[in-house]
Amino acid sequence: MTNPLLQAHKLPPFAAIQPEHIVPAVQSLTTSNLEALQTLLDLTQEPSWDTLVRPLEEQEDRLNQAWSPVSHLNGVANNPQLREAYNQSIGLLTEYNTRMGQNSALYAAYKHLTEGAEFGRLSQAQQRSIQNALRDFRLAGVDLPEAAKKRYGEIQTRLSELSNQFSNHVLDATQGWYKHITDPALLAGLPESALAGAAQAAKNKNLEGWVLTLDGPVYLTVMTQADNRELRREMYAAYMTRASDQGPTAGQWDNSALIEEILQLRRELAQLLGFANYAELSLAPKMAESTGQVIEFLRELARAARPGAERELAELRDWVASEYGDTNLEVWDVPYYSEKLKQARYQISQELLRPYFPLPKVLDGLFTLLGQLFGISVRQETEVQTWHPDARFYAIEREGRPLAYFYLDLFAREGKRGGAWMAECRVRRRTADGLQLPVAYLVCNFNAPVGDTPSLLTHNEVTTLFHEFGHGLHHMLTQVEVAAVSGINGVAWDAVELPSQFMENWCWQRPVLQYLAGHYQTGEPLPEAMIDRLLAAKNFQAAMMTLRQVEFALFDFRLHMEYGEPGFPGVQALLDQVRSEVAVLVPPAFNRFQNGFTHIFAGGYAAGYYSYKWAEVLSADAFAAFEENGLFDVTTGQRFLREILEKGGSEDAMVLFKNFRGREPDIQALLRHAGIQG
Ligand code: ZN
Repeated sequence: MTNPLLQAHKLPPFAAIQPEHIVPAVQSLTTSNLEALQTLLDLTQEPSWDTLVRPLEEQEDRLNQAWSPVSHLNGVANNPQLREAYNQSIGLLTEYNTRMGQNSALYAAYKHLTEGAEFGRLSQAQQRSIQNALRDFRLAGVDLPEAAKKRYGEIQTRLSELSNQFSNHVLDATQGWYKHITDPALLAGLPESALAGAAQAAKNKNLEGWVLTLDGPVYLTVMTQADNRELRREMYAAYMTRASDQGPTAGQWDNSALIEEILQLRRELAQLLGFANYAELSLAPKMAESTGQVIEFLRELARAARPGAERELAELRDWVASEYGDTNLEVWDVPYYSEKLKQARYQISQELLRPYFPLPKVLDGLFTLLGQLFGISVRQETEVQTWHPDARFYAIEREGRPLAYFYLDLFAREGKRGGAWMAECRVRRRTADGLQLPVAYLVCNFNAPVGDTPSLLTHNEVTTLFHEFGHGLHHMLTQVEVAAVSGINGVAWDAVELPSQFMENWCWQRPVLQYLAGHYQTGEPLPEAMIDRLLAAKNFQAAMMTLRQVEFALFDFRLHMEYGEPGFPGVQALLDQVRSEVAVLVPPAFNRFQNGFTHIFAGGYAAGYYSYKWAEVLSADAFAAFEENGLFDVTTGQRFLREILEKGGSEDAMVLFKNFRGREPDIQALLRHAGIQG
């Protein structure tokens, strides 16, 4: 039997891939890669790019080409057999990566390469990929004495168990509580769609009436729309005490002990590798240079946003007092009244905007913009095989020559993971047969067209599409030919959102909105008055939102710097300190936000939550260059293309930024865009 995952294809043969192909393919490729590596190390006397790095890149790419459609299908066309095969393969791949990452002979060969005469003659991209590899070997503990290496492995294993438990607890606690309602009066204020969802949730539990759960969208709808204050309080208390020692499910899935153990082990891990604390370790591959620089950055942002946030809160208080006669604003009242104030002030809602953003029009507009900015054109190719009739395939061209390709899968459906993302299908690199062009997957979850009505997007959804396209452009427009630093590969974590957030800015420009929007029945452009209101509402409570992000980021960062140091006050006390320094609205004492903070305890954001704001400084300042030189200025567009998008991870993010902007990033553009200052 032939396994399609083990054959070479220009593009993945989606129709032929079956769950039973997956594990054998991953087994076969990882085993043969490890064997080939051994042979390579045995045979190579004098490691060079051609005898060591190129063959390794070749075999890694073979594995990636087999794995990328599997991982993609797991996200967009999931079923139990596929999930099972996927999970089994993840175990194999983790083991494979550990064996590659801790291979001392390979590390020595790389080191030898940097010391040889050839190194100086290699391209910038080649040199950088080797330096990154050496850094990653060190961070994987390859340099450590045997006992420490063993301990490193134990800690990593334990940490991945703990992270997994942490997120399972949050999931269990989220699903382990619900509010059963039989009196419809309690649900006043909720929109039709939310009521239908709540009725369905009750039916699923064989209950009469309605059930409100702690799922994110339900919780958010209740907090912003439900008129009943006691209902909001109860939902807030349940949500903000998930997986803790407080609230309605206190003690059942308590993450408090896990938090302590995770922090302890992270500190030990960092110190094994010679860092003072985990925050320092986290920064080693990032753009930010020191822990002090990150703390100062966050505090600067807090100082700048503080007066605006105080003003926003005072405005809300005054408005609620005069409109509702209510002078005692609790934390669970703020989202509700804020929504009311926003509607009263701007009369703009996402639903009102939908008819003006039919998907075909939005895509045309986006492609027009890409042509204006970067001189590229986008063309659909209909004969390429995909995984679902909704998925389409496009080529990106310049002057008739193909640069890259992408799949577009935009509608929500059964078996497809929620959210939006860009993923890599093929990476741009130089092969023995010539140049391999990049291919991307771009995935969103919009409403599908119904009958003759096209998919209609909210403005938020348009922004999401632009965001993911920004990641896609970074991957697809790269000119780098070394896989490890091509496109988004090798880009520092705190700089990787630059192109995506940069693209979002275009959704807020009047001239762009004028051609991006058009009523799906009449073709009428978005009325100027609606554009005015949309733009005016953009920064509603932006300073308060900024402070919330800074609160999370500063807590995360200080926690990973200070845990275990003399004088560390404890996790809750540290959070209290950060809140009293930063927040304008201090939550009640029972709040256990940290126990559900999966980004840092079960995701990749430990001592890295600041990255969101850090990258926003870069993207806002990059966009400001277009504001200064003219939105559609060709020279500025070309410079952004040449210095940022095309360079990928081949050069330090700060160097690239300076090459584009002519100076270091300045925080002022971010503050100005958010209406905070300037
Ligand atoms: Zn992103």
